[in-house]
Amino acid sequence: MTLPVVTLKSGKEQSLNRFHPWVFSGAVKFISRELEEGELVQVVSSKKDFLAIGHFQIGSIAVRIISFEDTPIDEDFWIRKLSDAVQLRRDLGLLGSEHTNVFRLIHGEGDGMPGLIIDYYNGTAVYQAHSVGMYPIRHELAKILKKIMGDSLKAVYDKSEKTLPYKADINPENGYILESSEPCVVKEYDLSYQVDWILGQKTGFFIDQRENRKLVEQYSNGRDVLNMFCYSGGFSFFALQGGAKLVHSVDASAKAIELTKQNVELNFKNDKRHEAFVADAFDFMREIKDRYNLIVLDPPAFAKHRGALRPALQAYKRINAKAFEQIRPGGILFTFSCSQVVSKDKFREAVFSGAAISGRKVRILHQLHQPADHPINIYHPEGEYLKGLVLYVD
Ligand code: SAH
Repeated sequence: MTLPVVTLKSGKEQSLNRFHPWVFSGAVKFISRELEEGELVQVVSSKKDFLAIGHFQIGSIAVRIISFEDTPIDEDFWIRKLSDAVQLRRDLGLLGSEHTNVFRLIHGEGDGMPGLIIDYYNGTAVYQAHSVGMYPIRHELAKILKKIMGDSLKAVYDKSEKTLPYKADINPENGYILESSEPCVVKEYDLSYQVDWILGQKTGFFIDQRENRKLVEQYSNGRDVLNMFCYSGGFSFFALQGGAKLVHSVDASAKAIELTKQNVELNFKNDKRHEAFVADAFDFMREIKDRYNLIVLDPPAFAKHRGALRPALQAYKRINAKAFEQIRPGGILFTFSCSQVVSKDKFREAVFSGAAISGRKVRILHQLHQPADHPINIYHPEGEYLKGLVLYVD
């Protein structure tokens, strides 16, 4: 099959020669014919040299690259890609683990599949297309995954309704694309969570904080803990498990608080150390005084695009300043940003500015990031989206 050809302007092939998986629209000189969003295209240099194959997209990213080799994009191609990703999760000790059965199976560019996220919940895979190109092949990829994973995969649920570009006009509807299953209990380091991929936020759960939640356990003994932006409560269970004296979970969403309470009951029945509150973070943080000596701040992405960068940095500074001002001496702050457009340095600057407002002595104990099942393609540094700091406040 000959693919339509996207020809780049002279000099614009450099980033592809360095395996960066995006072609920006400004780099395109011409396209061999009119394209539908999501179509496979071949990208060539101004001298007509083959560069890569990818999915065409309308917007500032014009092509998302899936292959730097001139190879047919057929079943074998996808078998190779998906097998590589599954093998990595096996190598990480996640697939087949007795203690953890929730993890990310496909992480977009990190697994050489830009525009595709697949999360694994104890036998159910949740498929989420973020680019139009990854949507029409969902049934084919689900079948291939089943072939590769056998009995460890029971069902695949497609949850692309809200993640496909709204202009694409394909009216996706969420639903099972391979067998079906019920919302279930998953395990993360032997702690249990009720996960509902149909009604929950994102694909159902914030898998990316697994290792950072585990680290909270290590610091919680005897501490009074605030878990701000708790969603399904993960940081709270690890704090309880680590011997915290008291744990308060806070989220603006009443559903999230309901979920947190259910999950705490699953793991720590009738544990009076835990309380949960529906509240806005900025209101709640105004008057916490010296009630806590371990605080977790894990806000949603304050900046979803470049234009929102400045206000987002201000928001990180403000909320962190509130924590620094009030946390008890000897307190530990776990603070995060999951905004892709906020770099590690920018986030650190915002947190530093927050610390400076409080005037307290602050030391960095750990610099945190996303876990290994959310790998970063070395040629795509933009994929490093989750960053965190653990700080000791004298
Ligand atoms: N820490 C969680 C994930 C947090 S996701 C975990 O480990 O699973 C971010 C959460 O922030 C969401 O649950 C969302 O409902 C909540 N949120 C968003 N804006 C908020 C606000 N202004 N105040 C409090 N919570 C907020």
